[in-house]
Amino acid sequence: MNASSAPEGDLLGRRRKLLGPAYRLLYEEPVHPVRGAGVWLYDADGRAFLDAYNNVPSVGHCHPRVVAALAEQAARLNTHTRYLHETVLDYAEALLATFPDEIGHVMLTCTGSEANDLAVRAARVFTGGTGFVVTRFAYHGVTAAVAEMSPSLGAGVGLGAHVRTVAAPATFRQTPADAAARFEAEVRAAIADMRTHGIRPAALLFDTVFASDGVFPATGIVDGGVAAMREAGGLYIADEVQAGLARTGSHMWGFERHGIVPDIITLGKPMGDGHPIAGMAAKPAVLAEFGEKTRYFNTFGGNPVSAAVGLAVLDVVRDEGLMANAARVGAYLADGLHALRQRHASLGDIRAAGLYIGLEIVEDDGSLRPSAARTARLVNDLRRRGVLVGISGMHANVVKVRPPLPFSRRMRISSSSVSTPASADDRSHRDADFHRRLP
Ligand code: PMP
Repeated sequence: MNASSAPEGDLLGRRRKLLGPAYRLLYEEPVHPVRGAGVWLYDADGRAFLDAYNNVPSVGHCHPRVVAALAEQAARLNTHTRYLHETVLDYAEALLATFPDEIGHVMLTCTGSEANDLAVRAARVFTGGTGFVVTRFAYHGVTAAVAEMSPSLGAGVGLGAHVRTVAAPATFRQTPADAAARFEAEVRAAIADMRTHGIRPAALLFDTVFASDGVFPATGIVDGGVAAMREAGGLYIADEVQAGLARTGSHMWGFERHGIVPDIITLGKPMGDGHPIAGMAAKPAVLAEFGEKTRYFNTFGGNPVSAAVGLAVLDVVRDEGLMANAARVGAYLADGLHALRQRHASLGDIRAAGLYIGLEIVEDDGSLRPSAARTARLVNDLRRRGVLVGISGMHANVVKVRPPLPFSRRMRISSSSVSTPASADDRSHRDADFHRRLP
């Protein structure tokens, strides 16, 4: 039997047998999508799911321009960065044009983990230090080095001896000013502790919307922490894997919202609309010694097909005005959620930056205690109704809403599924039309 039409039970059994015990599925009732278009996923029975979760298909599932760019380049040539090729340079140029002038180089990888791993190596060489400060429930990837900087992986994955954690500047239960002051104080304490243990600081590394810590996109909360690390001779590495590429609506990159140019920027998930493209951008001075001492070759990173895809994604973001769309639709969604909050005491807090939204779910007894159980129920109920969202945060009580960027205002929800709207000017509907035109 074809895997895509196999009953779910079969797939579950095969997954476990073949892939082993380390994988996890989303939702009590797993979703089995077989096709995607725009902001919609379709399962084997043709049921439509509104995708309000996936930021990887940034410009919409199977965007026809991206698919065409991929197919065209794949049909012509795919090699690597040890040969000359225009497209990788065109992509690097286009990407660098989105950053402040101080950021002069970009190095390409396949995953966000590799990008962070490379950033760690570059920061070590530039500073001569080995100490890294990350947030208490951070996630930065799967390599041995960055898994040791990803406390959200749980106690089973120990933190490195050179890693210190600080509370993310959480803006719920404390004012933004208190969050900022505490963040700075904790970074300073972490640096002092490193020194006590003979560790020289290399960098402060954080996700610019603190997604896995529970989504904290407020601004004015990181300055003191970054300044403390820089005073100690360390770098600021901005992880843009979550916040990057127009999602926050006001800026192309999350770090821009904080008004501080990082020394290193790491990129990933949304760059390739589903294709594995990621990278690291940096100030040239940061890479000078690293480049002299070591060569860099990532077999698949920056290959011509990936570069063509990356370019197509940037073109679509620009041509379809997806940053403005993220601002407009994100604000509309956040307004609706704020109205709901008036009626539901369990909606403790709504934190939004464009189409990155976190809903903090609490007990409805006025205590503001985190409620993982309510959060799980809400997310699984939404899935049953055909809307996909996720969960984040140390207490597993933040609903993470992070849809593909062409999300739009009009979505019709029926009791059994969500269907695409009829309006001709609706972006997600247009994507579905495009999709039908593909072979
Ligand atoms: N950094 C952050 C903030 C992430 O969210 C992720 C992935 N969830 C990564 C890095 C790692 O990226 P990848 O899975 O592509 O290796």
